[in-house]
This record gives sequence, C-alpha cells and structure tokens, in this order.
Amino acid sequence: MPAATGGRWGRFWEQRAQQLQRQVQYQGAAGQSGSASAGLCSLCGPRARLPRSPHAALLRLRPVIQALKQDVKALHASFLEVFRNFWDHLQTGLSEVAEGVQRAQLQHQALLSWRSEAGHLERCLQEADSRYQLEKQRRKVLHNRLVELKGNIRVHCRIRPLLPFDEESEDPASQNSSVPAEVVHAVDDETVLVKCDRAAHPPINNTYSFERVYGPAESQQAVFGDVCPLLTSLSDGYNVCIMAYGQTGCGKSYTMLGPQSPGEPVPPWEPHSDLGVLPRAAGELFRLISENPSRSLKVDVSIVEVYNNNIFDLLAKDGRTAASGPKREVLTAQEAKQEVCLLTREPVHSAAEFMALAAGSLQLRAELATSVHANSSRSHLIITATLTTAPARGSPGAHHPPAAEQQANGPRPEGSRRRASGGRAWPGALGAQRPAEQVHAKLQLVDLAGSECVGVSGVTGSALRETSFINRSLAALEDVLGALAERRGHVPYRNSKLTHFLQDVLGGDAKLLVILCVSPCRKHVAETLRCLGFGARARQVQRGQARGGSPAPRKPR
Ligand code: ADP
Ligand code: MG
Repeated sequence: MPAATGGRWGRFWEQRAQQLQRQVQYQGAAGQSGSASAGLCSLCGPRARLPRSPHAALLRLRPVIQALKQDVKALHASFLEVFRNFWDHLQTGLSEVAEGVQRAQLQHQALLSWRSEAGHLERCLQEADSRYQLEKQRRKVLHNRLVELKGNIRVHCRIRPLLPFDEESEDPASQNSSVPAEVVHAVDDETVLVKCDRAAHPPINNTYSFERVYGPAESQQAVFGDVCPLLTSLSDGYNVCIMAYGQTGCGKSYTMLGPQSPGEPVPPWEPHSDLGVLPRAAGELFRLISENPSRSLKVDVSIVEVYNNNIFDLLAKDGRTAASGPKREVLTAQEAKQEVCLLTREPVHSAAEFMALAAGSLQLRAELATSVHANSSRSHLIITATLTTAPARGSPGAHHPPAAEQQANGPRPEGSRRRASGGRAWPGALGAQRPAEQVHAKLQLVDLAGSECVGVSGVTGSALRETSFINRSLAALEDVLGALAERRGHVPYRNSKLTHFLQDVLGGDAKLLVILCVSPCRKHVAETLRCLGFGARARQVQRGQARGGSPAPRKPR
C-alpha cells in the first residue's frame, strides 16, 4: 500500500479516533467511560503506530470498533434511560401543574360564589334591617293602640292592708261593735266593694269598677307590672304621668317610693321586693335606653313640690337656703307647652344616680316638713324625668361630657346643674347658650298630698290653710279631668299650679295613670268614698279627647 494512501488512511483514522475520543470523554465525564475508548486512545494517541497495511490496521482496529459499538449502544441505552427519566419527570411535573391550575380554577370559582353569597347575605341583612325598622314602628303603633284601648287616662285602685295603727286610731265606741273593721274589699281585679253599716248612718253598699284593682295582699311588683307598659310608651316618645291619689296614710308614698323609714325618705337603690314605682321605673327606663343605644337618649331629672299653690325646686335647695327654698313660676311657652322658669334639671346616667338624687332632695323635703308643715303629704311631690335626644354635633352647647367621664369626675357641683329649657324657644328665660337638644318625652311621677275633709280632720291655723290649698288643687285636678271627659273647648289648667305644671301629661296623647290609694278601715270610709268617686269621674275621660289648643296626635318618635 503506497505511503500516500497509508498517510490518508492514517489521517482519516486519526480524525475519527479524535472524534470518538471526544465522545468517549463526554461519556467518561458522564461516568460512563469504557474499555474501548481506552484502547482507542492507546492506538490513536500521538505516539501510537498503526500498521501501514490497511488490512492489518483493520484487524487491529476491529476489536476496538466492536468495543466502540458496544459503548455507543450502552451510551444510547443510558441516554434513552436518562431521556425516559426526564420524560417521566416532565409528565409528572406537567400533571402537577395541571392539577394546580385546576385547583386554582376551583378556588377562583369558590371565591366567586362566596362573593356572590356574601353580596346576597348583605342584601338579606339590609332587607331584614329595614323589615326590623318597619316592625319596630308597627310595634310602637300597636303598643300605643293597646295603651289607648286601655285608655290614655287609666285609673287603678289599691287597697292597703289593715295596719296596727288603724286599730289604735279606731273609734273606741265602735271597737267593740260587731261591724268589721275592714269595709273596703277587692271583689275581683276590676271591682271594689265598699260595704258598711254604721249606727246613725245610712248603710253603704257601693261597687266601683276600675281598670285594675289591687287587694291588700298584692305586691309592689304586681302594681309595677301594670305601670311597665307605660314606660315603653315613654321610650316611644309619649309623655307619661303616674300619680298616686288618696287620703293621708292610705299608701301613696309607699306605692310611689316604697316603704320609708324616719330620716330616710327613699330607700337606697337596692333591689328588694318592697321597691315602689319610682325606683322600679328608673331601672326600667335605663334598661329601655340601654336596649337602643343608637338613639343616645339622655335623662334629666327635676324634683319639685307644690306647697300652698307654690312650686318649690327641691334640687335648688341646699339646706342653707331659706326653709321654703326657691319658688318657681310656671310659664306657658309656644305650642301650649308649660315650662318652669329656672327649674333645676340634673342629668342622670343610671337608675342608681336617679335614686341618689331623689333620696337627697326628698331628705331636704323631709327636713322642710318638720319645720314648715306637719308631714310630707301636705305637699304634692312631682319628680320629672325629661328624655332628650343628644344635640347635633357642632350646635351651640352641644358638648356635654359623656356619662363615663362625668361619673369618673364625681358628682357635679351645685352651680353646674342645668336650668330647664325643654329645648324649646321661649324668650328671655335662659340666654343664648341653651343646648340644641330635642325633648323626646317626659315622665312625671306624682305623690299627691293627702285629700282630707276639714271637718273630719279638725285641723286649724296653718294646717287648715294647707288643707284648703290641697283640697283646692285636687278640686282643680278634678275639674281638668272633668273638662277633658266632657271634651270642653276650655280646660282650666291654670286654675292651680298643680294642673298647670302637669298640663303636658293631662289630656292629648299623653298617658296618665291615677292610682287611687284607699284605706280598708271603717273609720276612713267617708274619705274612701270621696276618693273612689274622684277615680270614677276621672275614668270618664276617654281617649282621643279634644283639648283646647293641644297639638294633634302625633306619630311615635
Ligand atoms: P301616704 O303617703 O298616703 O300618706 P304612706 O305611704 O306613708 O301613706 O303609708 C302609711 C303607712 O302605711 C306606712 O307606714 C306604709 O309603710 C304603710 N303602707 C301603706 N301601704 C301599704 C301596703 N300596701 N303594704 C304594707 N304597708 C303599707
Ligand atoms: Mg305620703
């Protein structure tokens, strides 16, 4: 074989061997180096000498080529395996991605459906809220109708039990008689029977009907049970008055305030079974207010006594002032609403505060009672709770410290008490800085002075004068109720300070409850008959009565 040919073959095999070496090096780098590549390296390296004869060279290369083929096959197989692994991983990855995408789509759909459900629930809530507001309004109207059906002026009668002092005061001549000491009986919860046969007197066998009659055994709780719906009316925006009427010693103060011990006119604010209307009403009032905090109702209290046809502000007294305390006049404002000039109105934020205020001022009243009049029943006591809605932000006098702040700061000094304005415009009484608040409704609790027959009580001097003032004011009250019953155009509110002061709660759509308190004793039968007669006449006052100058019935607020 010529050297040129041998040289060409030699270069060809050299190039081929280098190519294979690179492949093998690659395979070797991949950890797959084989024996063929090592053999080839030894044959084709720079110092290798291939035979010049192609046949001999072929013979020498054949095993190497065979080995190379094996290596290529192995390489191919390992490549296939690597590829298959890669493919498997790719498939797994792709299916995981697909699953992830599917999950994300499902979550997106769930999110969309939750969003639409939330929108639906929000709409339902709005509908429920507007239905609730509507129902609340209807409830107010129905409650008011119910109260009106029972009568805007209602008369209840309470017969107190026979007490030890009744026997002591019993006429000795009649003590041994066969006539029973108890002559007044509750026949049922609407009927009172007065049955009495006395020597030298015509027999009495009278029955009277009232909206409710309480027998001697009935509790304070039972009495308040019938008062309670009126407080709902108060919270709905109607003026409410609850008054106790009857002769001295028949249980008016017991009914209105609870049992009183000497030196402690109103029992402390602790729940107990004997609590009267005042503490229970205070508790219920603040309970109703707390039920609806969004209305931000505020309560101001004023306490007055009407004594000898003069109005005395018990919250303005401080023990050092004149025994009779500051007198107040009733002024009539626009819309025929009455206000008392410069009457002190003290804000209260809880039933306990209300009762503390009442106890404090009644203590002053009791002191006055010892120095000026014979007993506290010689004056009419009127406790007024005025409910106002908070002044609008930014209006004059709108800033009042919140209840918590006021409580934290302790009781306010005397000078910081507010003077009554009722939130209405009437000239000159209070100056420019009145709070721009609106009166929502007014509750008046009245412990009337004892009705007395002068002839029977045998009083003289200043006591006689007091008795005549009391009787005149009670007669004026009767006249007002009579005029309302007969729907007269003119109602004589101004005939007495008592009726003038109570003008807002007598007639119109105000709710008045008169609790007639009577003694069961034979000795008091004449006064009991007078009291029951007053109640029977007051009961004639029908709902919807016309009242001179009174505003038209309004919707509840
Ligand atoms: P008034 O205020 O009408 O003058 P009071 O309320 O002071 O009469 O009552 C006179 C007395 O009778 C008081 O000692 C009072 O505790 C008692 N009393 C009145 N009503 C009842 C009653 N329903 N149950 C028990 N005691 C009563
Ligand atoms: Mg009394």
